Amino acid sequence: MKIKRLDDSVVSKIAAGEVVVGIHSVVKELVENALDAGAKKVVVELLNGGKSEVKVKDDGEGMSKEDLLLCYLPHTTSKIDSFSDLSSLTSYGFRGEALHSICSVSKVKIISREVSSAIGHEIEVVAGNLVYDRPVYSDIGTTVIVRDLFFNVPARRKFLKSSAIESRMATEIFERFCLSKLNVHFVLVKEQQLAYDLPPSDLLQRVKAIFPDVSIDSLKTFEIEHHGMTLKGCLSLSSFSKKGLINCFVNDRFVINQTLVSAIYVAYADLLEKGKHPFVVLNLSINPKEVDVNVHPQKLEVKFVDEEEIFRFVRDSLKKFLSKPTVRQIQIREKPFVADSYGSYTARTEPEVLVEPAKEKLLEESKFRILGVAKGRYILLETGEKLLILDFHAAHERITFEQLMKSLLESSSKKLLVGSRLKFKETDIDLLVSSHVLKQLGFELKVDGRDLVVEQIPNWMELYEVEEFLKDCLDELKLVDLQGMNETIKKILADHACKKSLRTRDKISESEMLELAKNIVEEGYSTCPHGRPLMFSIDFKDLDRFFGRD
Ligand code: ADP
Ligand code: MG
Repeated sequence: MKIKRLDDSVVSKIAAGEVVVGIHSVVKELVENALDAGAKKVVVELLNGGKSEVKVKDDGEGMSKEDLLLCYLPHTTSKIDSFSDLSSLTSYGFRGEALHSICSVSKVKIISREVSSAIGHEIEVVAGNLVYDRPVYSDIGTTVIVRDLFFNVPARRKFLKSSAIESRMATEIFERFCLSKLNVHFVLVKEQQLAYDLPPSDLLQRVKAIFPDVSIDSLKTFEIEHHGMTLKGCLSLSSFSKKGLINCFVNDRFVINQTLVSAIYVAYADLLEKGKHPFVVLNLSINPKEVDVNVHPQKLEVKFVDEEEIFRFVRDSLKKFLSKPTVRQIQIREKPFVADSYGSYTARTEPEVLVEPAKEKLLEESKFRILGVAKGRYILLETGEKLLILDFHAAHERITFEQLMKSLLESSSKKLLVGSRLKFKETDIDLLVSSHVLKQLGFELKVDGRDLVVEQIPNWMELYEVEEFLKDCLDELKLVDLQGMNETIKKILADHACKKSLRTRDKISESEMLELAKNIVEEGYSTCPHGRPLMFSIDFKDLDRFFGRD
């Protein structure tokens, strides 16, 4: 007989590894418990990055002596009674595992006092065993002190990171609570130094405290309601940084969720500069029935019952918000006061209309003449001041690309009367059918037996183009997790635009050339969608200088 039942203490140690993966998860679980207890103030203290001690003090409802003697045991919770309660969950906790897990791999003291009680009670638990319990004087609320995490599991202790790294990770967790629970006073003390003292405030004040290099003037707050769901938060109106700063919460719980992130990137569409990302704090409040938080022991991942609906709600809400004009192109400004010859000041009465200077200049340049085509690829033109050489393939590609991006924002697509059946590899079919990118482009795809069935396609696409388009997409779709939804869509559309555009030696009439050049100059485009330049210009002044004519 080689199989034997594991000792309960071994089971606890193994299970603890799922909930407690480092100092940051201790901080997370303890702060969640404090918030579940209705705390209005939570103080977190870390010593040696939390490796020596993590202390979390709250002013919540507290625990009685009986509760204290139960709380560190496995599967003890006050938050749910039955499995069905999970679907109406409003608390962070529900598994009744965290305190037990923490207590079985460290030395813990818990001091707690309920509002109704004149004194408090204290317990000490070491490696899961109760050492003592005794009455103590204490404030209302609970203090949990966790010392020497994993002291009895050396293999895990070894995997704790340096104090500096553990401290940084714990701080990040703390900051997430500050971003979602605005009406709670949060304090963080690290190595006996005050790191944060954040009384209740609005979101922008919290962002200012937590991201000192983010200018809150560049952020806008939003709150949108739809069918019982609320989306609240703040965002940057354009690209923000190389690093993505996206914090998503669902019912105040920080989550990592691809549906939300994809919806955000699609909403930004071409507002983002290449390789840059937005700043977003987003808190989605929905009926707890519509979301499953019980997919992961640390409850970081969530699953929505209707992923599609959430995707559409977030995308469309943010899109609407982002497309609101924010910079006025034409401003009317009073002329400044000017001193007259008597030294007194009078205001000039007529308002002055200021047109954006860049636009003004481009419009001037739109008076041009076609000189001809060189090498079957370059259009030569002259304007009043310049000689322009335009790569017409690149120019056409850019215009086609911009049209495709525009139709993406209109989200228009057409249903096929009879679904078109295509053959692909099984793994490719999975990738295509589950792709949010293709859905966003307007495709509706299904699997039927071993075939891919195309039921709906974007308006700008012809049926004969579909198969090749999907084949061309595959490589980019595999990279979507790496490069993000927005970048993937851009790349796919850029490649498609390239295929649809005029090639070297294609016949192009003079009126088409004019139209193309006019478009490019008026829109101020300078590169093709792949980033190559599309125009070369020489000032006649420079030519004159070169020929010694000035
Ligand atoms: P869960 O949060 O999933 O219920 P925990 O193991 O984290 O499980 O906590 C067990 C129980 O201990 C909680 O359900 C709660 O009743 C009690 N508890 C833990 N921390 C606190 C606290 N800070 N204030 C009041 N009660 C607490
Ligand atoms: Mg808990």
